[in-house]
Amino acid sequence: MPFKSLGLRAELLQAITEEGYTEPTPVQARAIPLVLAGRDLMAGAQTGTGKTAAFALPILQLLAENRPLGRRPRLRALVLTPTRELAAQVAESFTDYGRHLPLSCGLVFGGVGIGPQIEQLRRGVDVLVATPGRLLDHAGQKTVDLSGVEIFVLDEADRMLDMGFIRDIRRIIRLLPALRRNLLFSATFPDEIRHLANELLRDPERIDIERKQLDAELVEQLVHPVDRDKKRAALSHLIRTRQWRQVLVFSRTKHGANRLADQLTRDGLPAAAIHGNKTQGARTMALSDFKTGRARILVATDLASRGLDIDQLPCVVNYELPQSPEDYVHRIGRTGRAGRDGLAVSLVSIEEYSLLVAIEKLVNHDIPQEIIPEFPPAVPFAIRPKVADAGPPPVRMGRGTVRVNTRRGLPTRRR
Ligand code: AMP
Repeated sequence: MPFKSLGLRAELLQAITEEGYTEPTPVQARAIPLVLAGRDLMAGAQTGTGKTAAFALPILQLLAENRPLGRRPRLRALVLTPTRELAAQVAESFTDYGRHLPLSCGLVFGGVGIGPQIEQLRRGVDVLVATPGRLLDHAGQKTVDLSGVEIFVLDEADRMLDMGFIRDIRRIIRLLPALRRNLLFSATFPDEIRHLANELLRDPERIDIERKQLDAELVEQLVHPVDRDKKRAALSHLIRTRQWRQVLVFSRTKHGANRLADQLTRDGLPAAAIHGNKTQGARTMALSDFKTGRARILVATDLASRGLDIDQLPCVVNYELPQSPEDYVHRIGRTGRAGRDGLAVSLVSIEEYSLLVAIEKLVNHDIPQEIIPEFPPAVPFAIRPKVADAGPPPVRMGRGTVRVNTRRGLPTRRR
C-alpha cells in the first residue's frame, strides 16, 4: 500500500519521499487513518516499528488543516517521551516530516539550560515534544501554556512508568483541556498502563503490532561463556579479532559503563559512554561520535539506550546480561533493524546463568554458545550439574571452537 492512499497531503508525501520511505510500516498503515479520523488510540508498538511517523504524520496534517492564519504559532500538540534522547529524535522527526509545512516543533527536556527553551516557547511552537519533569518546570514558571492542546501523545508509556513518571504524567494531564485527542504508545501493557489508558483515552481504537521478528531471521545471537574477571580482555579481543567496526555495548550500571569505556579506550579501542548521569551535552557528543565513527564503541546503560535510533548497527554486545529478559529483547533490537542482519553477542559468566535461562525462555529458543578459545571459562555451563544427564560432552569444531547447546549439552551448528 502506498503512502498516498492514507490520505496525507502533498507536502507530507513529498517529505516522506525525501526520507526515502516507499511504503508505510504496519503501525503507520493502521494508525494514520485512525488519527486523521479523530480517534483516540492505544497502540502496542516498539521503537523501530516506525511508530514516530505513525503519530507525527497525521498530527502534522491535522495541524496544517486548520492553522490559525497570520498569528504566532499556538501550542496545539504535545508529545511526552521518557528520555531526552527520544524527545530529541521525535522532535527531529516532526521537523523533518513537516519541513514543507509552515509549522514549528519545540523541544524541552531537563539537564540543559532553561533559558533558550523559554525563549523558544515565547516565540511560539505548534508542536512541543517534552520530557515530563522539565515540562512541569515550565508549567510552574508559566513559561508554557497548555490550554490550547488539542492532541496529546504519550510515547513509550511503559518506560515512563518504569522511570517513575506516573505522577508527573497525571499532573500534566490535569493541565490539559478536557476536550482533546489522546494517543498512547507502549511496547507492553501492564495493569498500570491499562488503568492509565482507561483514564486517558476516550473510546480508543486498539492497535497491536507484533513484536519485531528479532529472533532467528534477523539477529544472530551468540553467548560466549566467560569468567567475570576476564570479560574486559575478552571484549577487547573480540572487537579486534572479529574486526567489528561499530559496536554498542550494554553495561548494567552507569559506573560500569564509564569504567569499561575508559578501559577500552586505554586498550586502544576508542569508546564513549552514554548514561543518565552524563550531562546532555556529553550524551549528545557521545552519540554523535559513535554515529560518525569517531568512537567505534558506545557503552550504554539500558535506560540511556532506549529509543536511540542508530542505523545499520552490525553488532550489539551484552557485557552483562540485563536483570529483566525483556531488556534483552530491547537491547538486541538495536541491531538487525529494517531487515538488515545483525549480531547480538552476550558475554555471560557463570553467575549470570539463571538470567540466561530466563532470556532463553522468553525468546523461546536456546541461544548457541561458543567458548572463546583464548578465554575459556573456569566452569563451562555445559558441564554444570543441571545438564549432567543431558548427553555427550561438548565437542570441538573448527578452529578449536566449542559449541554447545545450552539446555541439552548437545553440539549445535551456527545458523
Ligand atoms: P521509530 O520506530 O519511530 O523509532 O522508527 C524507526 C526507524 O524507521 C527510523 O529510522 C525511521 O526513520 C524509519 N522509518 C519510519 N517509517 C519508515 C517507513 N515507512 N519506511 C522506512 N523506514 C521508516
